Amino acid sequence: MTVTKTDADRAPASWGLGDGQAIPWDYAPAPENREIVRLKDRYGLFIGGREVAASDDAVFTTVNPASEEPLAEVARGTAADMDRAVRAARLAFGRRWGGLPGRERAKYLFRIARILQERSREFAVLETMDSGKPIKESRDVDVPLAAAHFWYYAGWADKLDYAFPGRVARPLGVAGQIIPWNFPLLMLAWKIAPALAAGNTVVLKPASTTPLTALLFADVCRQADLPSGVVNIVTGPGEVGMSLVRHPGVNKVAFTGSTEIGRRIAAGVAGSNKALTLELGGKAANIVFDDAPLDQAVEGIVNGIYFNQGEVCCAGSRLLVQESVVQPLIDKLKDRLATIRVGDPLDKNTDVGAINSRAQLEKITELVASGVAEGAEIYQPACDLPDRGYFFRPTLFTNVAQSHRIAREEIFGPVLSVLTFRTPEEAVEKANNTPYGLSAGVWTEKGSRILAMVRRMKAGVVWANTFNRFDPTSPFGGYKESGYGREGGRHGLHAYVRLDDR
Ligand code: NDP
Repeated sequence: MTVTKTDADRAPASWGLGDGQAIPWDYAPAPENREIVRLKDRYGLFIGGREVAASDDAVFTTVNPASEEPLAEVARGTAADMDRAVRAARLAFGRRWGGLPGRERAKYLFRIARILQERSREFAVLETMDSGKPIKESRDVDVPLAAAHFWYYAGWADKLDYAFPGRVARPLGVAGQIIPWNFPLLMLAWKIAPALAAGNTVVLKPASTTPLTALLFADVCRQADLPSGVVNIVTGPGEVGMSLVRHPGVNKVAFTGSTEIGRRIAAGVAGSNKALTLELGGKAANIVFDDAPLDQAVEGIVNGIYFNQGEVCCAGSRLLVQESVVQPLIDKLKDRLATIRVGDPLDKNTDVGAINSRAQLEKITELVASGVAEGAEIYQPACDLPDRGYFFRPTLFTNVAQSHRIAREEIFGPVLSVLTFRTPEEAVEKANNTPYGLSAGVWTEKGSRILAMVRRMKAGVVWANTFNRFDPTSPFGGYKESGYGREGGRHGLHAYVRLDDR
């Protein structure tokens, strides 16, 4: 991959080197070694503890979005395969897992957590190759957090009586789980860890563009001697996900993805007695008051929207800035954008990697074009993108009106829309002026203002003087079109149990 350097290497004005001076140094390439991953040519489905081909032997190809090279062929599951997987999960639930004491289930979860840590580098490299996210994020965020979820829920497995005092917590049965492509392994952990801790068995469908870490996780299940059928993984297109949702042998459905598919899934379980949690899209407001420490806020804003190429449901995609500090903040942001390194996700210095798929890149490109057409002012730092792969420049829009599509629709890309406000009331009104309600951020020195804002904002998570912080002990989820139910923490366990009276 060749990256030619141009104005990207000009020093930001704040560095005081003189107008347009070249940065006097550059990072040497620091590519992570991909040899640690032993890719197979073809991956099967993981059903009943065994790797099996799809019922009609069909496969699809998963590609590296940073190079557009094929990585492997993956079984294209069918409704019949989904049926096989649900039966395997039912059998495992009825035979053994559902009645296993919590302390025994905990041992398996601890084992899985430990194996994920032992194989963390392998998982990080594979995640980056299949998804396009920078290695420093898969290495330092995705994989450690995935392991942390298993550690955390392992701790709850034998303490359900304490989690729900005075009640008896019973597993629901078979959980059907559908996950997206933006945090493939982490979303798997968010779904599987609490389900197993509570005594359920699982059938999981990964996203079609990022199946590989889920299939490597199948190997972890074998290594941990997890009883066969407790975890089943069926890869395949969206319709196969719907056959999981509708399957009568499924007791609980958990979905993370777009609001559009979330609606279809809600319709798919309607009329059944299946439990449902939906974690959908977002259009978070990140609010900066005039007393905020601006340099710290700039780091939070950058982390809020350019982390994981902005392909984050809780991304801080709408920046609301108090009018009196707009100009200094925008100047600092532009300076900071000039230092963001876009390129090879496997290079340890890369900040923004590849967009996950051509379709997603096209969606981002179209929405950005709409922003320009509707009259917002676009700023993109001068940086050359690799010749191949799905890359998009970090983008900043000013002069954005609330009616613009870029202020209303989830872009799911590295695109920030800046709006302004004068009073806290106006900030709250604008922040809540969205059909979504997943997350928000507040930057101010006043603790009382933080608490007042948190109360008034309709968002499941509000970060104060930080953004995009995750912890397995902390519940996460949305209001309105961002879905319902919570994942993480004790609340996340609640979604996988039936509570009976003692
Ligand atoms: P989807 O919601 O389509 O995909 C999420 C998961 O649902 C994938 O596993 C997908 O499978 C599966 N799926 C697709 N169709 C169905 C169906 N009819 N029934 C059951 N499962 C289904 O997201 P997209 O990949 O299409 O992304 C579109 C937009 O959604 C993004 O631009 C972004 O705005 C938003 N999004 C939000 C996410 C979030 O975390 N909130 C995550 C991902 C996307 P398959 O991959 O095989 O299609």
